[in-house]
Amino acid sequence: MNILVANLGSTSFKFRLFRFDPATSLGAGGAGAATMLAKGGYERVTDYGQAIDDCLGELKTAGHVRTAADLHGVGFKTVLGKNLTGCLRADTDSRVIDALNGFKEIAPAHNPPYALGIQRFREKLPGVPLVALFETAFYQWVPEAATRYAVPQAWHDAGVRRYGFHGASHKFVAERSAELLGRADIADRVRALYQAGPTPTEGAPLRVVSCHLGGSSSVTGIRDGVAIGTSMGLSPQSGLPQNNRVGDLDSAAVPFVMKTLGLPLAEVERQMTKESGLLGLSGVGNDLRDVKAAAAQGNARARVALDVFIHSTRHWIGAFLAELNGADALVFTAGIGENNPDIRAAICAQLDGVGLAIDEAKNNALRGAEGEISAAGSRTKIFVIPANEELVVARETLRCISAKN
Ligand code: AMP
Repeated sequence: MNILVANLGSTSFKFRLFRFDPATSLGAGGAGAATMLAKGGYERVTDYGQAIDDCLGELKTAGHVRTAADLHGVGFKTVLGKNLTGCLRADTDSRVIDALNGFKEIAPAHNPPYALGIQRFREKLPGVPLVALFETAFYQWVPEAATRYAVPQAWHDAGVRRYGFHGASHKFVAERSAELLGRADIADRVRALYQAGPTPTEGAPLRVVSCHLGGSSSVTGIRDGVAIGTSMGLSPQSGLPQNNRVGDLDSAAVPFVMKTLGLPLAEVERQMTKESGLLGLSGVGNDLRDVKAAAAQGNARARVALDVFIHSTRHWIGAFLAELNGADALVFTAGIGENNPDIRAAICAQLDGVGLAIDEAKNNALRGAEGEISAAGSRTKIFVIPANEELVVARETLRCISAKN
């Protein structure tokens, strides 16, 4: 079974092709053995139709597929939809594109490319099942108190609430950390989550705080494999400082800068989504490596940017340590979390009082790979788990297709 995962940006198209062994179970809890056969992509894409043709051409030349008929499904990591979440067929269910368009103002960099791209896939590959896995899907069971903003009812009714993002990444962490902690029951629960919902559990609760730290960052609290809350809110412009997008911001800031700096709303939005985050704080760049290099050379703004990022991450870890009454594991994932021992060490500094101690040598030795970095006496294990969002999308795509057939 060949599943293509398409990652669509406003001017980019990235893809991965997975092959699943039909002999392995994908049913409730089944892991589904998959091999990634191909990975590629194009920048400066102006026509997704052409990109789809190019992608199929590459896969054909490499001998992975002969025609579109050899693709058993295409999965999309869609961000958020109006009144819609979960894992849904995007070729036969018109609600998917409508829901993406319905919230294009909340995720202007993400929703329009997916709505357009999925439409082009429908035209180019008729008969090939298309599946949308919303990033918000992992947060379907978050308690209402953690999803509500204290806004007038009409705002809430219009959709102003916390949704949460990076769902595929945090779901993978939930599954893999359960395996690393010897809780196969919880790993099975996570894999079956979008089909079966939160099934009953036995044994001690498994509490995980997952830190997805990358170009875009979030911290999520997970109990027994199910999210109980996250740092991201209505939009991906919330929570931790992002690469060039503002994180949490007092709502009074927007009218204040409009009045005092004379900025029109569109310009405020542009600056919050393009000139804020690590870039806005440091003035150096939006890549953590550049910010770190500048800080090492004595750039004070770059140092502040790192300190704000570390402080904000600790703030959200603390929130979920309280919600979960401690944690069995703290996990680092994504580009920053996987590759920066110094940032991990700063985030974990002086947390022995809440049961968290990092092993300096193990931490320094681990970059870009899975492993445990906690000290021997740490009550909470600390892991690095490389992000594997595309595998989650591929598996859910296959499950969705299998369930419908
Ligand atoms: P992501 O969005 O997960 O690709 O993460 C991007 C962020 O991860 C950028 O801020 C990079 O600075 C950081 N990053 C990626 N690779 C490395 C690396 N090898 N060493 C240090 N930082 C890295």
